[in-house]
Amino acid sequence: MEDEEGPDCGKADFVLLDQVTMEDFMENLKLRFEKGRIYTYIGEVLVSVNPYQELPLYGPEAIARYQGRELYERPPHLYAVANAAYRAMKRRSRDTCIVISGESGAGKTEASKHIMQYIAAVTNPSQRAEVERVKDVLLKSTCVLEAFGNARTNRNHNSSRFGKYMDINFDFKGDPVGGHIHSYLLEKSRVLKQHVGERNFHAFYQLLRGSEDEMLRELHLQRNPALYNFTRQGAGLSALETDEKSHHQAVTEAMRVIGFSPEEVGSVHRILAAILHLGNIEFVETEEDTLEQGSLAVTEEVLVDHVAELTATPRELVLRCLLARTVASGGREVIEKGHTAAEASYARDACAKAVYQRLFEWVVDRINGVMEPRGRDPRRDGKDTVIGVLDIYGFEVFPVNSFEQFCINYCNEKLQQLFIQLILKQEQEEYEREGITWQSVSARAHPTRLWAVRERAGKQTCGGRPGRAGAQQGRCGRGWLAGLGSCLLALPQVEYFNNATIVELVERPHRGILAVLDEACSTAGPITDRIFLQTLDTHHRHHPHYTSRQLCPTDKTMEFGRDFRIKHYAGDVTYSVEGFIDKNRDSLFQDFKRLLYNSTDPTLKAMWPDGQQDITEVTKRPLTAGTLFKNSMVALVENLASKEPFYIRCIKPNEDKVAARLDEGHCRHQVAYLGLLENVRVRRAGFASRQPYPRFLLRYKMTCEYTWPNHLLGSDKAAVGALLEQHGLQGDVAFGHSKLFIRSPQTLVTLEQGRARL
Ligand code: ATP
Ligand code: MG
Repeated sequence: MEDEEGPDCGKADFVLLDQVTMEDFMENLKLRFEKGRIYTYIGEVLVSVNPYQELPLYGPEAIARYQGRELYERPPHLYAVANAAYRAMKRRSRDTCIVISGESGAGKTEASKHIMQYIAAVTNPSQRAEVERVKDVLLKSTCVLEAFGNARTNRNHNSSRFGKYMDINFDFKGDPVGGHIHSYLLEKSRVLKQHVGERNFHAFYQLLRGSEDEMLRELHLQRNPALYNFTRQGAGLSALETDEKSHHQAVTEAMRVIGFSPEEVGSVHRILAAILHLGNIEFVETEEDTLEQGSLAVTEEVLVDHVAELTATPRELVLRCLLARTVASGGREVIEKGHTAAEASYARDACAKAVYQRLFEWVVDRINGVMEPRGRDPRRDGKDTVIGVLDIYGFEVFPVNSFEQFCINYCNEKLQQLFIQLILKQEQEEYEREGITWQSVSARAHPTRLWAVRERAGKQTCGGRPGRAGAQQGRCGRGWLAGLGSCLLALPQVEYFNNATIVELVERPHRGILAVLDEACSTAGPITDRIFLQTLDTHHRHHPHYTSRQLCPTDKTMEFGRDFRIKHYAGDVTYSVEGFIDKNRDSLFQDFKRLLYNSTDPTLKAMWPDGQQDITEVTKRPLTAGTLFKNSMVALVENLASKEPFYIRCIKPNEDKVAARLDEGHCRHQVAYLGLLENVRVRRAGFASRQPYPRFLLRYKMTCEYTWPNHLLGSDKAAVGALLEQHGLQGDVAFGHSKLFIRSPQTLVTLEQGRARL
């Protein structure tokens, strides 16, 4: 593959570095980046650096070059990983998944789009109509989801503000026959508020700037986003109006192709418009206290008219929901309680957020409805296999971090733990598949046989030393004895930071941060964020990854009574507890739910099935946002763990989004917290390289008299054995059923030198 890349492009696989130090790693990364080589492997893991410029790396010709090839035959590329996942799925009928991670702006979503394009391009050679339809929906769904779930942020102009996991179902021919999207934790607070320089979700601007005049009139909207509270705060309005117009058309067209009816698209536009009007409603406390409305009034009644019209609900009821709430006062008795201006603003905001969230979820469900594998009978058609693609928010640190960042960073802790487990598990499975015997000491101690760990002051160790495996028995460590016959290989230990303790800190029952938060939320009577923080301090005062100003009074970077800090695997993050309880409760008055359930717009009504309940029936406390998120993360991790994983680790080269500049410090940090150096070490500790016998021969047969030009040794495996013996390298390899496993990069270097000398 280096031949194809040309000389001086560095190592296409970090495993081949002479030494595994941060300096060597960075030097290789930088050298390759400067040459436009944005992709590099660590074994089968792909490291990708965002080029922030269009490179001629994609499209039908490039796809054709990777189609059906092995991973190492071509220069590193997303297409090669997509192809490997696809072939593993097809050859071995294994479900696979591609996990894309990295911080905001690192290129995850772009990567996921290239992967989808690759899969769409290489499947369905017979052009079956149903498969074409599914592919179309898969590709078009991205555009729609980006409109509703992405926004311009300071870190990325098209930042995904939700996590996305997409399953693609394949039939026995390997053609996509369906799919399913799971979305995670939409950042709905963005509907109300945006940081300086940022924007609300794209859909609002596309509606305002992209709609025809007549449609805007029908929606009672004006074109200028600066006229609406919800779209003007961040003042990050610099996107081109013409772009917005073409995006609006593209999204509307994509919705049509996917199968949204014109009525549904109309409802979506009306809901967006209603949210914008809702955001402009303000409240004043008046002198007069009318029986109907108490002493509160809205400043512009016409806005209430618009909201009522657009949501197809009675005007008086909209006004009532805004100014008061009904509460059950024991038994079946209900009373109406007027809001203060502050309460009314709070209720209005909660309603706007909830309406947007339900709209987003409805869009996802609607897409899932049309991607459901149709008319398939497992007895007749065989079981579908699946490729999952995960594009989920990376680790986030802002000047002020709130509940959302807490959830996002917890998600990253879970995924990091899975990464460690899967990478090691995958190594082990390949050895087993290839019949390479290896002895796992910890396997005897731990029946799960998943991975070798030795905990030492928060570090985990895998690997062992040759010949000492017997002596290690009973200890929690592993001797990896791999090889053929007498081939015992030296396997150095690789240390990992064990982030399980941080995951525990967050999710442990009863005492974990989420459990403490839930308890605070369920307490009757007034409970403040400050009290929640005090409880956390009590429970975790000795936890090595938790601190607060109370526990560490000299640390002035935290505010007393407001902040706590978690030492994440990726770095320290200080969270402000302000709003934690409220965001976790995530409640909306039942009046709004009932109002929207009773809408005569069937699309809007369908989003509010829980509005059926009467206030006196609403007794069960709904699950909190934190618990729902935790449950969804546990399910996600279980799902990923059951599949054969492929990893794409994305790196953002600089904070300014500029082309051809790789800031070393910035990248170094990402390389460190993504655990890439450890990844290289693990890969080298086992076998640095593995190659099918025919391919190995093709590359090196000219270096040996027994194999050039052809061999007469009965099998390729035997021929490879003869070749290695002649070079004196047989001690550094193990022979699998179909592949040769090469232990040290030096062996590869020697072989390559032998080739170059000819
Ligand atoms: P977030 O977590 O905020 O959603 P992300 O990791 O999904 O971030 P992307 O939206 O994929 O980041 O990428 C950010 C921008 O970087 C893109 O809009 C595009 O301009 C540029 N970019 C990313 N990958 C590539 C690529 N392979 N080629 C050219 N430009 C790219
Ligand atoms: Mg993204």
